[in-house]
Amino acid sequence: MAGQLTFALIKPHVVLTRRVGKIFTRIEDAGFGIVLAKTVQLHKEGAQEFYKVHADKPFYENLCHVMSAGPVWAMVLAKPNAVGEWRGFIGTTNPAEAEEGTLRREFGDPQNITNNAVHGSATDHDAKREINFFFGREIKLAEKLHEIDH
Ligand code: GDP
Repeated sequence: MAGQLTFALIKPHVVLTRRVGKIFTRIEDAGFGIVLAKTVQLHKEGAQEFYKVHADKPFYENLCHVMSAGPVWAMVLAKPNAVGEWRGFIGTTNPAEAEEGTLRREFGDPQNITNNAVHGSATDHDAKREINFFFGREIKLAEKLHEIDH
């Protein structure tokens, strides 16, 4: 299934302003299948681990604070070329510069790049790591149940 799945996340400022349902609708209308979804409250340490590739960036501390300031929705999405399709659909990092019709343009805060509504894996390799980060237990359980069943 390489290339068919990606990891996506709805950031706390969207959850706290009750716009998750609108984004779910947009996701399905755009042809993505929502394969797995759950809400999670990250600890600061969890956010630090998830974003560790940015540990040397000046915005890292603030990013980890914001990402652990409220619940997120973590998702596994399915579509052919899922990683590229999702990145295109969410738009560029800065909501103020995101293209018309993208999720970051519509749901991001144009005054605050950290609150850019959603996350999307940058590569298939990242998608695998990020899916495991949030859904490792569910995947292990599914594998175990599959073993018992066969
Ligand atoms: P993404 O792949 O488009 O999410 O962008 P990155 O992986 O480069 O950055 C991760 C997250 O860090 C982004 O989604 C933003 O929330 C935040 N971020 C990125 N660049 C900046 C920046 O220059 N300033 C601040 N404050 N936050 C940033």
